[in-house]
Amino acid sequence: MPQVLHRYLFREAYDEAVKAGLDICVDCSLCTYLCPSKIELAEQFAEAKEQLRKERKELKAAMAGEE
Ligand code: SF4
Repeated sequence: MPQVLHRYLFREAYDEAVKAGLDICVDCSLCTYLCPSKIELAEQFAEAKEQLRKERKELKAAMAGEE
């Protein structure tokens, strides 16, 4: 549900966005195409996923460094 993801990401609630399905967004852009308010939803989701990828990578590297 893109509107739910948007609400969570708007208030930077990344954990909730992931729980709501951010990771399974396939970047098809249909939500952006259909949004009556013309919000760039797919772009917002792609940016959030990239941010999460970076954070997970940094966390993994930090954990590997501790071993
Ligand atoms: S980009 Fe596609 S898969 Fe992702 S939230 Fe929008 S409609 Fe769903």
